[in-house]
Amino acid sequence: HETGAAMTGALRYHGMSVKDAMTPLKNTFMLGADERLGFDTVAKIFKTGYSRIPVYEVTKSNVIGLLFVKDLIFLDPEDEIPVRNFVQIFGRGLHIVWPEDKLGNVLKLLKQGRSHMALVRDVNHGDGTLDPFYEIKGIITLEDIIEIILGDEIVDE
Ligand code: ADP
Repeated sequence: HETGAAMTGALRYHGMSVKDAMTPLKNTFMLGADERLGFDTVAKIFKTGYSRIPVYEVTKSNVIGLLFVKDLIFLDPEDEIPVRNFVQIFGRGLHIVWPEDKLGNVLKLLKQGRSHMALVRDVNHGDGTLDPFYEIKGIITLEDIIEIILGDEIVDE
């Protein structure tokens, strides 16, 4: 029975693209680079349960890197250190994908990198009166793709 579900998932996934599997921006937990890692913020981070948090500067479409929650083990919240001091990865492997990219290609890409997460970026053309600009539409992780392949009943570890 499970094998059947996985095969259906594998077949299904071939025609699917990033937008079908991603976590949309409105559900993505991010932090601003200037936010301070005091008690409240750290508690909020732990409550989300996520292991990686995109960090942005000024707007959410300007992600500068990731905060790895495990890096907070030795943090003293009394120091109120800015998120910026914990940002990692930019330049060496923060993948960027398009909403229309096929999941098979993104799976390959994510397996290569270290973070197993990509930002989903698109061009916003607005109503045509402004210059087009990049916009972050959400994130996608290896887990999102595996969930599609294995079927929706498979739960997170
Ligand atoms: P984690 O290890 O943090 O649980 P996974 O890669 O296992 O992350 O992904 C589990 C689900 O959580 C996926 O749907 C993924 O898109 C989502 N996810 C991961 N990080 C975040 C985040 N910072 N904000 C919102 N959703 C996230």
